[in-house]
Amino acid sequence: MLIVLDVKASVESIRRVQAFLKDHGIDSQAHSDPLSQTIVAPNASKKLTVRQLEAFEDVVRAVPITSPYKYASIQGVNAPTVIEVAGLKIGDGSLSLVGGPCAVESRDQLFGIARYVAESGVKLFRAGAFKPRTSPYAFQGLGIEGLALLAEVKKEFSLGIVTECLDNMTFDEVEAVADIVQIGARNMQNFSLLKRAGRSLKPILLKRGNSASLDEWLLAAEYILSEGNSRVILCERGIRTWSDHSRNTLDLSVIPAARRLTHLPIFVDPSHAVGRRDSVLPCARASVAVGADGLLIETHCQPEQALSDGPQALLQSDYLDLVDQCREIHKLLQAKTALHLGF
Ligand code: PEP
Ligand code: MN
Repeated sequence: MLIVLDVKASVESIRRVQAFLKDHGIDSQAHSDPLSQTIVAPNASKKLTVRQLEAFEDVVRAVPITSPYKYASIQGVNAPTVIEVAGLKIGDGSLSLVGGPCAVESRDQLFGIARYVAESGVKLFRAGAFKPRTSPYAFQGLGIEGLALLAEVKKEFSLGIVTECLDNMTFDEVEAVADIVQIGARNMQNFSLLKRAGRSLKPILLKRGNSASLDEWLLAAEYILSEGNSRVILCERGIRTWSDHSRNTLDLSVIPAARRLTHLPIFVDPSHAVGRRDSVLPCARASVAVGADGLLIETHCQPEQALSDGPQALLQSDYLDLVDQCREIHKLLQAKTALHLGF
């Protein structure tokens, strides 16, 4: 149920409704912005009537949310979610770039890459300390040692850290270092991990599973949101299709489709979608053009020596070129949108 309150409703009015819901065993979350005050209570329609809720002081109306995802849906929260992290505002119409290698491999490798990522003005640095690999014989990441190196990078270069958590066992350790905790494509439906992420105070970057529908992806986000963590960023990273010219198929049409359904910010990871260096730039440009809130880009100082995903890692110069081009495209789009809106 979506409970719409008077925009000037007092904190007591909101508390009274939430206490009533709690007495009936119903979880709820209140949302306030300058234009609206609402309470989302996913299970309220099962136990209460619209009339019961509309009887409360300051309640303007109560409307059943028909969408299967209650917190992720724009039916519940009708304004874009803006996430403040590492000096950025993700989802406010700006372009948030994340650069870095696939994996933490050594201090020299990490510092070498972090230096040029920081110099490019990009504020978020990505690298996995725990790597989900298709083969058990492939490099699995440096684990805790890798997290310690990421903590050093954060300090030395003032970069926000985006790094993946693979399981509940290591969540506390990853969360302590990460500014944004990544949940990878393979774990998109690891429900106990999603619930743990939902209890985290850190924003969560939720990759789309490689065969997940948009509904399944948003329901995965709902697991996190329903536990109380409202800071979820979706990330399209390519899905499996019959095409074999590319590692995965970058599904850019999912961005406008997701925008119609959810208020959550959406990133694109063209690197894992295409799997080869020469396709990353065109797909990154297209991602910005289609309206992504941010991009995740893999880059390496010595891609030929990378322990994972070397073929898709951009060389430093190509990475810098991509950052410039994507910023230019974004600027152009913003100017056009402002013109269109008559600003
Ligand atoms: C990654 O970002 O390093 C990664 C493993 O991505 P995905 O989960 O999209 O495969
Ligand atoms: Mn990778």
